[in-house]
Amino acid sequence: MIVESLGVRKIVIPNSALESLWRECPSECVAALSGTRIEDVYHVLEAYKLRGAYTQGTFRVDFGDWVEAVRRATSNGLEYIGLLHIHKDSQSTPSPLDLRRMMECPGEVWVILSKSGVRAWVYESELRELTVFVT
Ligand SMILES: [Zn+2]
Repeated sequence: MIVESLGVRKIVIPNSALESLWRECPSECVAALSGTRIEDVYHVLEAYKLRGAYTQGTFRVDFGDWVEAVRRATSNGLEYIGLLHIHKDSQSTPSPLDLRRMMECPGEVWVILSKSGVRAWVYESELRELTVFVT
């Protein structure tokens, strides 16, 4: 079930982070996002590309890279926000597998980039869309 964003939470993402991931990734790939949170707005300041493998329609992130990304963020005084990934051949909505993973990490923001644009999602008690601002 997809619930329309209530506009209570927003995310600001630099276009450079989106463009570089799109350029570097032949198919799916993932970056960890960190930054600051001011009231109901996340400001992405860093995108840290994670190694991983795309097999049989599933992208598996290198867990060590993810831990390193979170460690870097917190040691720089930033907050871990969530993941950015690409859907080269589909829409910017979470796949069924994405949704399963999101349900395992409530509150983690998932930013999805596709040819149709960028959208951001969070799973709390249900899937909710965030308002995205690209700068
Ligand atoms: Zn996905």
